[in-house]
Amino acid sequence: MPVLVVGSIALDSVETPFGRAENVLGGSATYFAASASLFTTVQMVGVVGSDYPVDQLDALAKRGVDLSGIERAEGESFRWRGRYRHDLNSAETLETRLGVFSHFRPKIPEKFRHAPFVFLGNIDPRLQLDVLQQVARPTLVACDTMNFWIESRRSDLIDLLARVDLLTLNDAEARQLTEEVNLVKAAQWIQAHGPTHVIIKKGEHGALMFGPKSVFFAPAFPLDEVFDPTGAGDAFAGGFIGYLARSGQVSDENLHRAVVYGSAMGSFAVERFSITRFLEIDQHDIAQRVSDFHRMVSFEQDLIA
Ligand code: AMP
Repeated sequence: MPVLVVGSIALDSVETPFGRAENVLGGSATYFAASASLFTTVQMVGVVGSDYPVDQLDALAKRGVDLSGIERAEGESFRWRGRYRHDLNSAETLETRLGVFSHFRPKIPEKFRHAPFVFLGNIDPRLQLDVLQQVARPTLVACDTMNFWIESRRSDLIDLLARVDLLTLNDAEARQLTEEVNLVKAAQWIQAHGPTHVIIKKGEHGALMFGPKSVFFAPAFPLDEVFDPTGAGDAFAGGFIGYLARSGQVSDENLHRAVVYGSAMGSFAVERFSITRFLEIDQHDIAQRVSDFHRMVSFEQDLIA
């Protein structure tokens, strides 16, 4: 089943303790599509400026990403500049230039309007709401956000929550949005505003999924080299939703497995700058990493009576 993603399509400049990259492909929709396209067909909607190297998106088209919903506008592309110091869990935003995103109104092509799975990648919550007005009721609507929007568009974001089934955000963002220190309480606050499921990402400490009655945890894959954490969250979402869309089922068991696939895809994202790693891997690499996860967390219960 196809997945529709709407989000930022960026040119990122990133500095980590291991190197720097200038004006490389980035953005929430780009990372999501690179990851989810290893599972299913992806329909991508967003905007790029006249300076965008569109030919570099060909690699995604070859992976089955339908790029016909990407608008090309006069002006500068969305640009994000960030830095990670030794704590690779938190990015320091040095500059955000919205460029053509400041006048963007998403236009969902007719052929994308019935996608059963929709991911509202990190962009202005007003645009995320606009997308929902254009699509037929999907099986699952998931949404991501970040501190930038929590600070500048809080009430729109809260309106949006009532319309989504699942929210993904990192632990600092969950605390900022809900003003709760405790993550269990933060998840309950979010669920009370709409989504039945909340995924709180904790970088190298894994991810927690809160459902209506249960909590599921998946660790992050212990890599010996984390090169650039940018995009891990969107790659997580791509693995999570890509897996659900491929199986077509949103049962509890599948949601749990999807969290592990999400964690696996997040771990690939951080091994290189930009989306490079996703263009190198295939189904076999994903299966191998998921079975490594399985070995890492399985144990036999020995109940002491
Ligand atoms: P993450 O998966 O959270 O690491 O997301 C990384 C991507 O988010 C980068 O490639 C940035 O281009 C993009 N990004 C950063 N700030 C924003 C923003 N305010 N709105 C939309 N996308 C952003």
